[in-house]
Amino acid sequence: MIEENVKKLLESMPETNPYGEKVTLVGAVKLQTPDDINRAVSAGLHDIGDNHVQEFKDKYPLISGNPVRHFIGHLQTNKVKYLIGKIDLYHSLDRITLAEELSKRGEKTGVISNVLIQINIGNEESKSGFALSEAISAYEKIKAMDSLKIKGLMAMLPDTDDTNQLKRLATLMREKFDRLRQADRDIQFLSMGMSGDWRLCVDCGSNMIRLGTAIFGDRNYN
Ligand SMILES: *Cc1c(COP(=O)(O)O)cnc(C)c1O
Repeated sequence: MIEENVKKLLESMPETNPYGEKVTLVGAVKLQTPDDINRAVSAGLHDIGDNHVQEFKDKYPLISGNPVRHFIGHLQTNKVKYLIGKIDLYHSLDRITLAEELSKRGEKTGVISNVLIQINIGNEESKSGFALSEAISAYEKIKAMDSLKIKGLMAMLPDTDDTNQLKRLATLMREKFDRLRQADRDIQFLSMGMSGDWRLCVDCGSNMIRLGTAIFGDRNYN
């Protein structure tokens, strides 16, 4: 099933978004076994993203195929030390204190970390991230930190069936992304889209989608 899901997704995903940018599929691997993750990687999944530091630590040595490693979950500042140097792209820079810690650890170890700034596009209590109106000031503060390289923006759309609302929010994200990108050639990634809304997100200009259920099936939380 997993192999089939990966192959079907890679075949059916548009190679580029309407802006002509390559769309990257990141497998959201929370709660999946190393075996299942390895099956997805050997079926062609090049990128995987973890949510939990403990899970990442436990599974890290058991993952084969050398996929690109993303961290997509909320990250506690005191756990940064376990990840530094092992993550290719952090999606969830949701506060300045986290950026400071990542930069400080990077300076100590000589590691430059690639990061996305997380925007709470739906202004939801349950989600973290900067307000859209704070995006530029957060960008400027983080840009000044030595050991970080800002590669773009990340957002999770609200869980709603209101397609117009989703399109409106996704388009606002794309506009902010374009504004940053005009002035900064390092800005490349707009990480937006999960199993339920990725098509809409790509149509609106996302170029990086994070899929769990669509690859691995429903998660078992027990
Ligand atoms: C779990 C998770 C996903 C994937 O969610 P699905 O709906 O299973 O595709 C994407 N992004 C983040 C940040 C997640 O935590």
